[in-house]
Amino acid sequence: MKLLLLTLVFASGITCKRVTVFVCDSKYAKKYHYRDDCRGLKNCKHKIIEISLDSARSTNKTLCKWEYNQ
Ligand SMILES: [Zn+2]
Repeated sequence: MKLLLLTLVFASGITCKRVTVFVCDSKYAKKYHYRDDCRGLKNCKHKIIEISLDSARSTNKTLCKWEYNQ
């Protein structure tokens, strides 16, 4: 039980830390990016917008393949 509580505290700490990511403002965009100058965003013909990591994940976006190794 103690472990579960610790996990909850830890998890809520992460949610409070506002992590923002960059996405192409297109309904076809499926990736999010940590940097707005990422090469994965170079093909974006729309606006590049900054959103929270939570909302990127809630719309089923996944991390850009160029940023796995960072
Ligand atoms: Zn990227």
